[in-house]
Amino acid sequence: MKIVTYNVNGLRQRISQFGSLLKLLNSFDADIICIQETKLRRQELTADLAIADGYESFFSCTRTSDKGRTGYSGVATFCRVKSAFSSVEAALPIAAEEGFTGLLGCSRKEVEASVAEGLEEFSREELLKVDSEGRCIITDHGHFVLFNLYGPRSASDDSDRIQFKHSFYKILEKRWESLLRRGRRIFVVGDLNIAPCAIDRCDAGPDFEKNEFRIWFRSMLVESGGHFFDVFRAKNPNRREAFTCWPSNTGAEQFNYGTRIDHILCAGSCLHEEDDLEGHDFVTCHVKECDILTEYKRWKPGNAPRWNGGWNIKLEGSDHAPVYTSLAEIPDVSEHSTPSLAARYLPMIHGLQQTLVSVLMRRQAAKQVKSHVDEKVKLEGCSNIVKRSITNCDVPGTNIPNCSLDQDSEYSILEVDKHSEDLTEEAACTTKIALNREYVSSMPNKEPVKRARKSQQLSLKSFFQKTPSLGNVVDSTSTDISTNQTGVLDSENQSQEAPAMDDQECSPKQNDMNASASSQGQVEQDGSPCLEKEKTNVALLEWQRIQLLMQNSIPLCKGHREPCVSRVVKKPGPTFGHRFYVCARAEGPASNPEANCGYFRWASSKSRPK
Ligand SMILES: [Zn+2]
Ligand SMILES: [Zn+2]
Repeated sequence: MKIVTYNVNGLRQRISQFGSLLKLLNSFDADIICIQETKLRRQELTADLAIADGYESFFSCTRTSDKGRTGYSGVATFCRVKSAFSSVEAALPIAAEEGFTGLLGCSRKEVEASVAEGLEEFSREELLKVDSEGRCIITDHGHFVLFNLYGPRSASDDSDRIQFKHSFYKILEKRWESLLRRGRRIFVVGDLNIAPCAIDRCDAGPDFEKNEFRIWFRSMLVESGGHFFDVFRAKNPNRREAFTCWPSNTGAEQFNYGTRIDHILCAGSCLHEEDDLEGHDFVTCHVKECDILTEYKRWKPGNAPRWNGGWNIKLEGSDHAPVYTSLAEIPDVSEHSTPSLAARYLPMIHGLQQTLVSVLMRRQAAKQVKSHVDEKVKLEGCSNIVKRSITNCDVPGTNIPNCSLDQDSEYSILEVDKHSEDLTEEAACTTKIALNREYVSSMPNKEPVKRARKSQQLSLKSFFQKTPSLGNVVDSTSTDISTNQTGVLDSENQSQEAPAMDDQECSPKQNDMNASASSQGQVEQDGSPCLEKEKTNVALLEWQRIQLLMQNSIPLCKGHREPCVSRVVKKPGPTFGHRFYVCARAEGPASNPEANCGYFRWASSKSRPK
């Protein structure tokens, strides 16, 4: 079994890069693919973004409407399956849960019953807050519980976010503890936004490891008496410069100047049943390898000219590289079907409208199930009008088999006449995963079957809506193409990277100076539309004259005697709006003379802060 984790920095963009979701997923040849930073809002989840043949998918999108927090983050777990409706494959989850507190999607009444075990001490508000940003999907694969995580980033001067990050990991840790107490094995994969040790960061200073979150991270590891293996380090204990993320606004990929913040952690016993299990644990016995898939890096030698204050072509890809692990001797589990949290069951808009695709898929599903269901099945009328949203209440153990899928419609439901003794325990909209002991054959063999409404009003619009023209989706750029008033014009091509909102730890040198990379004055590359030739020529000459003028005033950097690039301070503060010059080269280790020499100069005395 192979598990991959990948911060895609925009699922839409990666799908466009690979041609389709299926091609993206197949490129990993993995059984479980955990994706972070989908940057998709719930209402944007369409079939082309969420459904791929041969995979079941589970999404968590950001739910908060806080400023700056909508439409980013978001995680998704894709599971490769041969059969989604009656399967013994361990890759197909037995249960799935959005968030890690157990609260998402449950009404106030249900809260008592819904809070995940071990989290009773926290307030409802606190729990809902950590789950509000689409940062976790939990899937239970029988042999282990898998957390797909996107850990919050916190700038050192942002006390609100530091507090948020605190709560996030404190509550998460409680949840892990509770599962481990029950003897569950745990995988935690994803972008945790924490580089645990100095070896995991390009520019770690002497106090690097004193950061409270690094200390917390390391306290989770077996070396410090914790439960988890850092699987990459377990397999590659001394590997240096093993980075998974590079800041995109400094060209850091060119000199591999990054951090290792994408992780695969694993805790728990092995599956062996020998008498003497001395020296056995899951990682030692079942993890074959773990490594970084550097072939997914955007920049490779030869694929792009060197950074010169920006890439002069648009680099395709995420600013992270995926990490994978492959496992051995993972047996099948008891027969089960896809949990109802799966994207195939997602209603499109506010839980009411659906795409034709999903309805067709469900019809197909019904057919498949019918062929599986034998004489034990009895036909029942089910006119339950279920108000609660099925997308959030994953109740695989109850005897209402997913009839809330079409919330306001009536069905006849084929129900398997077989009940589990676990049913009462799991009747509420509660989290199955905490309750699942080692998955045994007592799992109710429930086959959800539903029939699409006969006269259903479909969202035809969604069907005809053109797939967003992915080729045109610019990778979260905020290209500043305005020519600034001082007329600094040069033909430098500009990086298309937007540093804002990027959850990565590496701070470029520019940030250290309280400035974020911005553009220099831009020359519009593609020319202006439909101007007369003469005018164009006149403009061009004037343009060249100004360029020449400006070039003479662009300083050369100390280290390379090369023309600098100009930037503008974008961070609010006393220097906001001021222009300065820096070495144009990509950031890299100070020991490398090819890398950025650190040259800095304010653009003019007028621009210089007082
Ligand atoms: Zn073993
Ligand atoms: Zn230089």
